[in-house]
Amino acid sequence: MSVTDENTTVVIVGSGVAGLTLGNFLLRSGIDCVVLERRSREYVEQRQRAGVIDTRAARMFRHWGLEDRILGGVPFEPVMNFRIDGQTRPYTFLADDNGDGRFCPQQVLVRNLIDVFVSDGGDLRFEAEEVSLEDITGPQPRVHYRDSAGASRTISCDFIAGCDGDRGTSRASIPEGELTRHSHEYGYAWLTVLAEAPANHQSLMAIHPRGFAGQFARGPQASRFYLQCPPDSSTEEWTDARIWEEIETRFGEPVGAKGRISSKTLVPLRSVVYDPMSYGRLYLLGDAAHIVPPMSAKGMNLALHDAEAFATAVLQQVKEHDAGLLEAYSSTCLKHVWNYQAFAAWFTDLMHDAGDASYHGEFRRRLARAEFERLYDSETASRLFSEFLTGLN
Ligand code: FAD
Repeated sequence: MSVTDENTTVVIVGSGVAGLTLGNFLLRSGIDCVVLERRSREYVEQRQRAGVIDTRAARMFRHWGLEDRILGGVPFEPVMNFRIDGQTRPYTFLADDNGDGRFCPQQVLVRNLIDVFVSDGGDLRFEAEEVSLEDITGPQPRVHYRDSAGASRTISCDFIAGCDGDRGTSRASIPEGELTRHSHEYGYAWLTVLAEAPANHQSLMAIHPRGFAGQFARGPQASRFYLQCPPDSSTEEWTDARIWEEIETRFGEPVGAKGRISSKTLVPLRSVVYDPMSYGRLYLLGDAAHIVPPMSAKGMNLALHDAEAFATAVLQQVKEHDAGLLEAYSSTCLKHVWNYQAFAAWFTDLMHDAGDASYHGEFRRRLARAEFERLYDSETASRLFSEFLTGLN
């Protein structure tokens, strides 16, 4: 077993959207970096999750000259298709400037980010196991890992970007008590289902006395379905037949093609923010620093925002020897994160409380219905909602 010592400017732990976007921005700026990913390339490129790239994020890729090579998918329709108690109720975005958002499955974005990074000469190492961080507060932190051939390796660097999600090793390397964890549990979960079933619309969201249901296109032949359920539900309770019956009941219409269900997962809805988003020379990005409920479609977009903020800060430090943006990284990102958490909490509660009163009661149900109606009745409320959805607020 050999030990290799290397040096780079930034070690990026994790090749999700945050890590890969950061890697691409640094590479284009001529800043050395190494990306370490625990999983195989095949696994990462097939992991299905988010699907909405908002206008702000799409413009970010344009600004960095990567829009054509990175962004797949189709333009985001400026209409949300709601089914309220079984009746169709379309909502058209009221924003002057929302034309650049995309419906792009996260795995398509990840695959494109990997292709561009690798073909431009980026250093991306898959199957990097047992990543551990040493001397994070010193001038030259070190990152240790075991490579795919079983060799132990060490990379020293100026900065570490912790982009390894909520369960990664980066945040866990920070001593207890250095970060404050702010969290909120919503009191319900989503059963998330991936099925070979083409969607009639890019998205369809139902408010129904039996709870929220959603359908989002994931390519021409597949859909993700979401069903609100109690947080103590288990996937075993949800047979395929029960899932299809519940989807049809909540949407109030038959599902055209009930294809094979390839995965079922239970996701408790919660919000989490870690403050600050850095410790020594370790900076946290994306889900490693914050979780938003998926209802808001903002998790991936927040990860992209962090990647740009950190890349710009490192660029300023390396090229101009100015640490101003790095020092402000956490507060800059947290301001944006809390703004989106506020939107995500409001929209999540509205869509879930407005249907099944057994979770939070009839009073909350009526409040949520009133808030929903306001989106149609008030131009001010509608404009604010649209601007949040498109990422322009
Ligand atoms: P990740 O994508 O989780 O990437 C982390 C990477 O780090 C992974 O590749 C992982 O393998 C790697 N890693 C972990 N541990 C280690 C280690 N020890 N060493 C090395 N590598 C490691 N967001 C939206 O914006 N819009 C949506 O529509 C949306 N829908 C969603 C639907 C669902 C069902 C879920 C679960 C999430 C959804 N999200 C959505 C959230 C979004 O998917 C995440 O916020 C986003 O993936 C965060 O990106 P990230 O790069 O921070 O983390």
